[in-house]
Amino acid sequence: MDVAGTSGGGNSLPSVGRDATRRRVCYFYDPTMGNFYYGNGHPMKPHRVRMTHALLETYGLLNHMRVLRPIPAHERDFCRFHADDYIAFLRAADPSVGNNPATLRRFNIDDVECPIFHDLYKYCQLYAGASLSAAKQLNFDHYDIVINWSGGLHHAKKSMASGFCYVNDAVLAILSLLETRDRVLYVDIDIHHGDGVEEAFYTTDRVMTVSFHKFGSYFPGTGHIDDIGYDRGKYYAVNVPLDDGMDDESYLYVFKPVVAKAIEVFRPKAIVLQCGADSLSGDRLGSFNLSVRGHGECVKYMRSFNVPMMLLGGGGYTLHNVARCWCYETGVALGIEVDNKIPDHQYIEYFAPFYGIHLPTTNMVNKNSRKSLDGTIAKVLANLSKLRAAPSVQFKEQSSSMELDESDDDEDDGSDYHCDEDEEDTSESDE
Ligand SMILES: [Zn+2]
Repeated sequence: MDVAGTSGGGNSLPSVGRDATRRRVCYFYDPTMGNFYYGNGHPMKPHRVRMTHALLETYGLLNHMRVLRPIPAHERDFCRFHADDYIAFLRAADPSVGNNPATLRRFNIDDVECPIFHDLYKYCQLYAGASLSAAKQLNFDHYDIVINWSGGLHHAKKSMASGFCYVNDAVLAILSLLETRDRVLYVDIDIHHGDGVEEAFYTTDRVMTVSFHKFGSYFPGTGHIDDIGYDRGKYYAVNVPLDDGMDDESYLYVFKPVVAKAIEVFRPKAIVLQCGADSLSGDRLGSFNLSVRGHGECVKYMRSFNVPMMLLGGGGYTLHNVARCWCYETGVALGIEVDNKIPDHQYIEYFAPFYGIHLPTTNMVNKNSRKSLDGTIAKVLANLSKLRAAPSVQFKEQSSSMELDESDDDEDDGSDYHCDEDEEDTSESDE
């Protein structure tokens, strides 16, 4: 393991500049998360979060950050975004009890994509509770980066489940961050469009959503480049549609200028980065060709702006690659380059035959020509440039364009507790 600043090796983080600064990192994990089970054959497996945690443990990364167990979200937390009747339905949902087919259709619950499974509501409480607990820690300014790999379920809608997502923890976390910050930037590198988050904030100028995704005959079907937001939110929704075979070079060629421009014109006070790992090469449902290092470079780049940041999980259906990716990216958050060789631990056999963090990508065709990417970048940057020129979107220190409930939370209410009582906060403050 190579702590940033101690090595000039080609794979290590820079030893000079903004990236060399240590960050205070807080990581949220509930040990029961890996027990939830969507059902036989379902591609979404919460076990991947437990595999990620086991990697963090075996690499010793848990010793470099605060490890907290999330407070489960309450019904009232969900209902800041979700409809009361939908949450009441989820709370009562029981796989052994039949439901009215019309109700199931209304909430988009089925046996295939969004099934009712054992302890579904508890699952929602934990993954959303972790994002809310993480937002609270950012609001307290206790940490620079907060992490919830069980979150990032970006497809859930106000009154509807979608794409393996039931409650939208990213939306709930952003609403919490808006209590203390004027502007929050949401960036989504899952292969699927971040539709639920975009829709929630489509008409506000306080949240900018930027989604990089496969577009064209692909779930959820939204995310056209011309979908740019509406009313006060015009130009605050950014969509970057991509085609099959995106490799590291192409992805970063698009990602960096778009994100840099978004940060320049929007000046976010916090960033939520959804790190869906289904954009990795070899994903069971995806069709991009990103390496762990390329995916992680997006995290590294966002981190370099030194804006308080939340890292969320998301998609990712080839389990061993998801764990590789999120372990590597936890290292990026900490400024630690993890060794490629995965140490022996309880899940080591998942990583056969290479037993490495970094897997080779494939020789699949990259359908994204440089010309098409240049066109996409030009269009997106042109839209973002309009923000600076438009007098109607001058920033105010306390915008009232989105009504927010008054929070009754305070620090005492944040009774997060240590996952491990022996765990010490060993992270260091910025230099
Ligand atoms: Zn996805």
